[in-house]
Amino acid sequence: MCGVVGIIGSPSSAREAFLGLTTLQHRGQDAAGILTYDSEGFHRVRNTGLVESVFTREKFETLTGEMAIGHARYSTIGKGDLSDVQPFVSNYPYGIGLVQNGNTVNYSDLLKRQIKESKRHPLSHSDGEVLLNLFSEGLVAHGPVTEELKFETICHAVSGLMDHVNGSYCVALLVAGFGMVAFRDRLGLRPMIWGKKEGSLPSGEAHMVASESVALDFNGYQIVRNLEPGEVIAINLKGEVFTKVLGGKPRRPCMFEWVYFASPESVLDETPVYRTRINLGKNLATQLKAEFSKRGIKPDMIVPVPETSRIAAIAVSEELGIPYREVLIKNRYIKRTFILDSDDKRRRAVELKLSPVKSEIKGKEVVLVDDSIVRGTTSTRLIQHVRNAGAKKVYFVSTCPPIKNPCYYGIDFPSGSELVAYQRSNAEIESLLGADAVIYITEEGLQKSIEESANGNKKISNPCMACLNGKYPTDVATGLRFAETRESDRRSTSN
Ligand code: SF4
Repeated sequence: MCGVVGIIGSPSSAREAFLGLTTLQHRGQDAAGILTYDSEGFHRVRNTGLVESVFTREKFETLTGEMAIGHARYSTIGKGDLSDVQPFVSNYPYGIGLVQNGNTVNYSDLLKRQIKESKRHPLSHSDGEVLLNLFSEGLVAHGPVTEELKFETICHAVSGLMDHVNGSYCVALLVAGFGMVAFRDRLGLRPMIWGKKEGSLPSGEAHMVASESVALDFNGYQIVRNLEPGEVIAINLKGEVFTKVLGGKPRRPCMFEWVYFASPESVLDETPVYRTRINLGKNLATQLKAEFSKRGIKPDMIVPVPETSRIAAIAVSEELGIPYREVLIKNRYIKRTFILDSDDKRRRAVELKLSPVKSEIKGKEVVLVDDSIVRGTTSTRLIQHVRNAGAKKVYFVSTCPPIKNPCYYGIDFPSGSELVAYQRSNAEIESLLGADAVIYITEEGLQKSIEESANGNKKISNPCMACLNGKYPTDVATGLRFAETRESDRRSTSN
């Protein structure tokens, strides 16, 4: 998972890309990069680290031009060194820069083919480079490469790419001398939104695409709409806008965006994240009422596990009439543990990340509300922390149903065996986590929560829930190989 932005027609394109990436920092904290273009060519700054640390004042001043693409990276593929940091650039045809959010399940097969048939030498371990090669080759294949790039040729290249790539992807590209191109995978697994405002293009406009609406809002762009599944949009330097849907299928957006990943201010596919998280809390509370009464549980307080679950925990507290207490205090200078790579790093980070307020917790029955339980490392440690602080009982509840299957589409749990709910009963999970009870929202409760906040639009009536129910929206036969590659990448990163 990553955050991407693309801008054309703004004299402050680099600044807007930077601000956009800052609002999308939650989507990826491993690396960041911005590429701009003007009459002197491409200008690129990229490095590992947080957005703010990558762009010093001197480096930022080199990013001239009125179009830009930017990337905040969350490693789900590759080894995480500088060669894997986007934007990627290719010099033929035209000169193309690419940023991408998503994950290519058949990355290894595509890479092998590009090495064998096109005699390419990979410069990174990233599927973004493979997508860039596919797009470039598609432009040439529709050839001849003419002075003026036509939208028809772009569609040909993107459609060919979509035919070959199995997985999730939202892509933004700069094409030298032409303008900006963006597209979304045929299932709409990952989000991408388009906006515009007054700008310097001959049409008097500037355009921006981004992974989430928060990046557009922050830069003063008015939302035009979300990209449809399989849609490509191209905006040239004359300010002409072209769009086309290339074999889009019924939308299957990732449910985890609403549950955990996206920023609460964002609206994805016309469905607000904040409202969905309130609904998750309400629907979970309905379940908890029944479960608490059945098991004779009488909690004293509802406690959010910072940050994501706060919104849902407030709704749980309101629905159950049990006091809401923020008694886990976050050290904000430790990165989100779920995003870290090795188990060891995760364990150390959990110890440093949250401190319980002993004076409030001592002798109490505490309900900890979390957005999800993935590997269980964080939850186990937290439960122990709260017990050590003197809690009489600790109940752990989750606004995501049990995650039992790997994700091959960009969330970093590529193998089932690392998941705490994989082939385990609820009683086994309770015992493993050391909780007095573990209660998950049901799949129906999750579906209802998203639908209720969609306010009647049917766009997300069938989100991807493959990590919950194993029903993958694409063929994932090559997924096992992907899991092995990822495991080896992780090992080499943690060594
Ligand atoms: S498998 Fe789960 S995390 Fe992955 S895209 Fe589907 S819903 Fe999202």
